[in-house]
Amino acid sequence: MKGLGARGRTEGEFMNKRIIFATGNEGKMREIHMIMEGCGAEIVSMKEAGIHTDIVEDGATFEENAIIKAKTIMQMTGEIVMADDSGLEIDFLDRAPGVYSARFMGEDTSYEIKNAAILEKLAGVPEEKRTARFVCAIACALPDGRIFTSRENMEGMIGYESRGGNGFGYDPIFYLPEYGCSSAELTPEQKNELSHRGKALRSMREILKREYII
Ligand code: IMP
Repeated sequence: MKGLGARGRTEGEFMNKRIIFATGNEGKMREIHMIMEGCGAEIVSMKEAGIHTDIVEDGATFEENAIIKAKTIMQMTGEIVMADDSGLEIDFLDRAPGVYSARFMGEDTSYEIKNAAILEKLAGVPEEKRTARFVCAIACALPDGRIFTSRENMEGMIGYESRGGNGFGYDPIFYLPEYGCSSAELTPEQKNELSHRGKALRSMREILKREYII
């Protein structure tokens, strides 16, 4: 017999439903598939769902941006939509680039240049003031109007040089003291285990399970 879930929902009510993940980034989709594997819902990208749109991410926080993306696509499709927003907070720079991480120095500027500029800004700054974190917020918007969010961090510090060829973006300058390497030196599996996005996705998976959505 099916159990009665939150708000009187029957377990499995959303079974065989699909969830659109509002991203065009194939690397993120690979991570999402790994983490959501076996969840009982099919996870598709915007491209796979046939949606092509540019969303203005003008929220002041990671959560606001994730909600803007998830809600916009949910309203366009009437389906369950998940979206994420992430970035790097550097304490010495008053938590910049933060929500502007992708736009820092211009979207088209290479990360080689962006990372070199950050190392330059932190030249001479002692270790204890180089603390930083990657942040990820995930939002899930349901056609019935409910919205769930999760948020997780990966704590570390800005290193003294670029290191490693895995990952993307700011990974080569993000140093994990307890692992003695940069996040660009982690394998994809290790990064999934430790990362802000991996942790936020696993939290969201738990929320969706608890609410009988998956
Ligand atoms: P968005 O979440 O796709 O808007 O990406 C935000 C930006 O934050 C990315 O373009 C990267 O610059 C940065 N970022 C977010 N997560 C990571 C990560 O895991 N490694 C390196 N950079 C990241």
